[in-house]
Formats: sequence, C-alpha cells, structure tokens
Amino acid sequence: MKLTVLGSGDAFGAGGRLQTSLHLSASKNQILVDCGATTLIAMARSGLDPNEISTVVVTHLHGDHFSGLVWFLLHAQHIAKRTTPLTIIGPRGMQERLATASEALFPGSSKPPQAFAVEFFEHAEATPRVAAGFRITPFEVRHPSGAPPYCLRIESGGSVFAFSGDTEWTDALLQASSDADVFICECFGCEGKLPGHITWQTFSSKLADITARRIYLTHMGRDMLDYRGDINDPRVHFAEDGLVIDVAAATMPLQGAATRQG
Ligand SMILES: [Zn+2]
Ligand SMILES: [Zn+2]
Repeated sequence: MKLTVLGSGDAFGAGGRLQTSLHLSASKNQILVDCGATTLIAMARSGLDPNEISTVVVTHLHGDHFSGLVWFLLHAQHIAKRTTPLTIIGPRGMQERLATASEALFPGSSKPPQAFAVEFFEHAEATPRVAAGFRITPFEVRHPSGAPPYCLRIESGGSVFAFSGDTEWTDALLQASSDADVFICECFGCEGKLPGHITWQTFSSKLADITARRIYLTHMGRDMLDYRGDINDPRVHFAEDGLVIDVAAATMPLQGAATRQG
C-alpha cells in the first residue's frame, strides 16, 4: 500500500499547507481518504489522475475534509469526462451535505452526473466495508461536525494504515491504530487541551499506549508547526504535502517496539 499525503494542513492554511486529503494505492486500485477544498490542486502537483480514483472515503463533514468533492465531481463531468462509477463513503447524511455544499458554491451542480454513477454509503460503527480492495473500518471519534465523525483503519495486502480524522483524544484511536504499520494522527495544538482536537501534550502522554509502528502528525496549527522541531521521538514523524510513504515497508524494521518502552 502506497500513501501520498495530498494535504497535511489545518482548515486555515497554517504553514501554507493544503487541506486534508490522503491518496492510497494498492495493486492498481486508488482511493482518496478525505477531500478538502484543495484536493484537485494537490493531485495535479503529485501527477495523480482523478479519473483513477474509484472511491472517496470521508471521515467527517467539515469543509476542509469533504468540500473538495464539489470540485472533484464538477471536474469529473466537465473536464476529465469521467465514465467509470465513483463510490463515496462517509458519515450519516453525507449525500445531503454534499448536495447542499454543491448548490451553495455552484448553483445547479448537485444534479447527478449523466456519464457516470455515483454511489453513496454511510459508515457503520466498527463495521468493515471493502471498497476497491481496501478493507475500511470506521470508529466514532469526538469532533462535533453535524454528523458522527470517524477515525479509520484501512487494510490491504497485509499492511495496515490508520487515520485519526479530526478529533480530541479518544481510545477509539488505539483501536483503529492497533499494530498499524502507519498511523497518521491529527495534532492541531501544542499545549493544554483543545475541544475537538488533539494537542502534543495530550498525544505524547498516550504514546506508550499506541502500538502503531510509525506515526505521522498532521493537521498541525501554527503553534504546533513552530514546536515540532523540538520533538525527538524515533517513532514520531511529520506529514508534509506531497510526502509519499510506503506503508508496507514500515512492517520491516520494528523501530517502534524499542521506543515504546522508553
Ligand atoms: Zn480539519
Ligand atoms: Zn474537522
């Protein structure tokens, strides 16, 4: 499984980073996890073809995680001339929220495309769904967004990837990232506690409980971006726009096993 970080930013452009989107590929199947407003820009930068995406999985219904679908669907119809079906998996009410966003931004654009089918599915707690060969299991987290928010455990070909979405700390993250090869976790803040988001102070206190082999922090706000240079844990890395991660390779050296003791 190959992972490309399309957007590693928060909702507000901290550090000039793009909004959340992750691209996963495995044996010719390509999916997106989250689709912030800047996703098409990021795909163009990384040389990725939107028509190759068969499934878009959304963690929660905030604009910096799903609004890019408005542009994705318009581009598919009018620019990329897509003909293959698209699956969209998201929280309860995903289809209605997307239609509302589409109408607000491009009136008339919420009509279903003529040239290809769009099929919607809703997450069901801890219930795996297989899409494009990826086994996707959602676990509910804590991040008010008008519909249940989720973190995700995604498995393919023996490798495991976990993504927090946006959330304050919840042990659902331990479940989703249990023995994962790569865990991408939001870390919006630096010190103290923030409603709906994780800070480094909280995250570092949970590190001993996290069994993922490699951890990448993402969705960092200004303070956390400034602070990250002071963090020195061999298991903790930082997501960057355009970063490509070989998820399977992370299974080779068990670097995390030693550091977890310390
Ligand atoms: Zn966000
Ligand atoms: Zn959010």
